[in-house]
Amino acid sequence: MAAVIENGLFRVLRNRVGRAIQEFQLLEEGDRVLVALSGGKDSWTLLHVLDALRRRAPVRYELVAATIDPGFPGFDADAIAAHCTEAGFAFVCERTEMSEILRVKADPRKNPCALCARLRRGALYNLAERLGCTKIALGHHLDDVLETLLLNQFYGGTLGAMAPKLLSDDRRNTVIRPLVYVDEKQTASFARRNGFPLVACSCPATARPDGKRVRVKALVAALEREDRRIKRSLLRSLSNVQPRHLMDRRLWVD
Ligand code: SF4
Repeated sequence: MAAVIENGLFRVLRNRVGRAIQEFQLLEEGDRVLVALSGGKDSWTLLHVLDALRRRAPVRYELVAATIDPGFPGFDADAIAAHCTEAGFAFVCERTEMSEILRVKADPRKNPCALCARLRRGALYNLAERLGCTKIALGHHLDDVLETLLLNQFYGGTLGAMAPKLLSDDRRNTVIRPLVYVDEKQTASFARRNGFPLVACSCPATARPDGKRVRVKALVAALEREDRRIKRSLLRSLSNVQPRHLMDRRLWVD
């Protein structure tokens, strides 16, 4: 069975994930949860913490770890499979043609990650349906949520972030994000201390990361150095919306 180092960091993670599950009712009795496992620090943390909670949760749910193999040469799905087998996780790997689709369709002047995310999501939705999963758990953490909030405002002209629980547009799948209260540095530290096999996507685009996201991340980090409460305040703003002080007339009530 999966075992992780049960230190203070583990307890913090368990509490934060448990809080998100409870507050947003992310899991229900009998859920079969497909955990999107890229092989990065966030998805390993998600899988292991959900598993640890499962053994003491009041609701019964099961986990299926699923990796979408993007098809880039060098992507080491075997290392992911080996850890899952050793830890006793149900595991599925879905081989895709994503690398080829990106090569043909992505605009070479733009970062391909948005298109890639859409393709990956589509593959996950289909896989979840095929495996009879009732939820799809994604490893987005607090920093992802806040960076998306700011990116949408700075560059997208919209006010929105990442919901902890979301019914997909085609209403076929429910996506959950149990790490919404977890900081990125906590998943990094947890993955490092537990020696999870970190597998890179082997995508050539990693050499030229999304400049806007990099700048927003640096901005939040700089502001946080001045005031440690910055991220907590941004997070609080997401559950403290004041529609009367915004300019979207669809939100106005007579
Ligand atoms: S770096 Fe490559 S694999 Fe990763 S999200 Fe971007 S396009 Fe997809």
